[in-house]
Amino acid sequence: VHELSIAHSIVEIVCRVARREGSPRVLAVHVVAGDLSCLVKDSLEFCFDLTARGTEAQGAVLYLERRKVVIYCIRCEANSELETLQQFRCPKCGDYTAHLVSGRELSVDRVELEESHAPC
Ligand SMILES: [Zn+2]
Repeated sequence: VHELSIAHSIVEIVCRVARREGSPRVLAVHVVAGDLSCLVKDSLEFCFDLTARGTEAQGAVLYLERRKVVIYCIRCEANSELETLQQFRCPKCGDYTAHLVSGRELSVDRVELEESHAPC
């Protein structure tokens, strides 16, 4: 259900972009997702194909780019990327009081459109 509602939003966004640009078809969609967004790639692709049927986004390729979770450590006064979500603490000093900077984000980064050239 999670992926289906996300797929719906993605299709809505890219179709709006296609219409605004006067393009007949969406070729590819680049989605950026933080590790904490818990997206399952296969599931999202499946839902996207399903939702895109009959729209400008039908047959578009979905690229999912993962972003690591970034935390801020007060002790180190620095941002760090988390290699694993199992241990939610600063990888440099091991402090547990690190703050979440990013990792929950989910957005359409880029949309590739078919150009609507009139043939010469
Ligand atoms: Zn630290």
